[in-house]
Amino acid sequence: MKLPKQVEVIEVCPRDGFQNIKEAIPTATKIEIIDRLVECGFGVIEATSFVHPKAIPQMADAAEVLQTVKKKHGNRAQFVALAPNLFGAKKAIENGADGITYVISASEDHNLANTKQTIAQSVAALEEVCKIKGSTKVRLAVATSFDCPFAGKVPVEKVVSLVDAALNAGTDEIVLADTIGTATPLQVEELLGTLSRQYPDFPFVLHIHDTDGMGLANVVTAMNLGITRFETAAFGLGGCPFAPGAAGNIATEDLVHMLHKMDIATGLQYDKIVETAHYIEESLHISPVGHMSRVACSIKN
Ligand code: ZN
Repeated sequence: MKLPKQVEVIEVCPRDGFQNIKEAIPTATKIEIIDRLVECGFGVIEATSFVHPKAIPQMADAAEVLQTVKKKHGNRAQFVALAPNLFGAKKAIENGADGITYVISASEDHNLANTKQTIAQSVAALEEVCKIKGSTKVRLAVATSFDCPFAGKVPVEKVVSLVDAALNAGTDEIVLADTIGTATPLQVEELLGTLSRQYPDFPFVLHIHDTDGMGLANVVTAMNLGITRFETAAFGLGGCPFAPGAAGNIATEDLVHMLHKMDIATGLQYDKIVETAHYIEESLHISPVGHMSRVACSIKN
């Protein structure tokens, strides 16, 4: 295997994780969890989402969360915020986001369900976002890069043409998302192999859910193809409110444990991530989702 010496892990629990919890999480608890994630050493944290509060009421405090964590930790970490449309992107910029995660699905059906727009409309809006971005980094998250909950397997060409359009529009970063967590290592090899031949050295990010339990196998496959940036969520929270049946992201502590055991550096403090996972468990009253938080529990008890 051709494995990297160093990997960057981007933490998305405060957005992808929290958005799937029905019960309102107090803003102070969200900020406390982000404080702890900063202490773990994450350089980039997806802090919130500027989505309409009617669509996802949990994210109604997006401006307060982002402004507070920027003020507290802006010199230590970058905070990105998700935006499903131009309006959300403007809000993210106004509130000081270091980056915007703009979402377009490679599957037309999922894009309509997720954003109420066609892919062409979403791309046109992305072009507008790139015009107003200033110093804010624009990241395109290609949702359903592998499988769609409505249309099944998404053809690689659809993802490639969306990536082409996004890069032409001036997008800074591309995140390939396995939104429903069903991709196999062969699908990862097919898509990332195609993209890395077309865009050698472009630092694609892989965002992985673990519904079918192939998440870490997909990470290893991607690393073997030269990918070194991954998005996961502490405690394995996450899911997509508009993708029925999708489970959580790979638990960050599971990924970091595997990487460190394989002598791949992350710059992160594993013990603190496990502690944060337990804090999430206690403060949000949820059972462990990942592997390593359970292992640590059983050793402790
Ligand atoms: Zn996700």
